[in-house]
Amino acid sequence: MKTAQLYYNDSYQKEASAKIIEVTFLNGKDAIILDQSIFHPRGGGQRSDKGQIKGDNFSFQVDDVCLQSEEIYHLGNFDGEANPNDEVSLSIDWDYRYQNMKLHSGGHLLYFLLEKHVPNFKWQKASHEKKSFQQFHGEWNDEIKEKIEKDLNDILKKGGSVEIQYMKKRDVPRDVVSYVPAHLPDDFDLRMILFEGFPPMPCGGTHVKNLSELAGLKIIDVQSKDGGWRLKYGIE
Ligand SMILES: [Zn+2]
Repeated sequence: MKTAQLYYNDSYQKEASAKIIEVTFLNGKDAIILDQSIFHPRGGGQRSDKGQIKGDNFSFQVDDVCLQSEEIYHLGNFDGEANPNDEVSLSIDWDYRYQNMKLHSGGHLLYFLLEKHVPNFKWQKASHEKKSFQQFHGEWNDEIKEKIEKDLNDILKKGGSVEIQYMKKRDVPRDVVSYVPAHLPDDFDLRMILFEGFPPMPCGGTHVKNLSELAGLKIIDVQSKDGGWRLKYGIE
């Protein structure tokens, strides 16, 4: 990959400078490839960032960011003309990113609480987009829901640190190793997210620094789906 992924190190970086590597097209849209980027591409259930790339002779409204063939494409519309080697400034739509970050961290937190309280829990899939959900197999009733909501409210009140740590694949805890792509070698450095009080989880998304930032995280409803359950959640 030609682009250094700045969002991996700091989910709170709203602005940066960069250099254009390539001005190109993808899926019929104008696209820019940069030497480094704060724009998170869509993936892992998280929506892509939006924002602006500005140079001396142009501005570019980024409305989608996509990871394809191991490259990050910033897709959008030009006003003016850009060229390789142009020095540019980047800014992301922070309110949009922060909401996406909270939905992503919230999804992980609910995963852990489901795993703790749902007998015979087996995770199916998740989305941290506008209609966020966790989908799983296992037992479900009102009593389980109350236990999860009680834990959730305690955690949101008390808070807890969220840290990023790199870990060799061979050191990943056995209960989460099934979420690591099987083709990766044992000595692969995986990006792990550590929520205080829970096991590390592999993830390439953006996350809040403290669980107290997820105040307003709520279970919206739980419906049976595909032989299991779909728990819809949101942040008010
Ligand atoms: Zn994640």
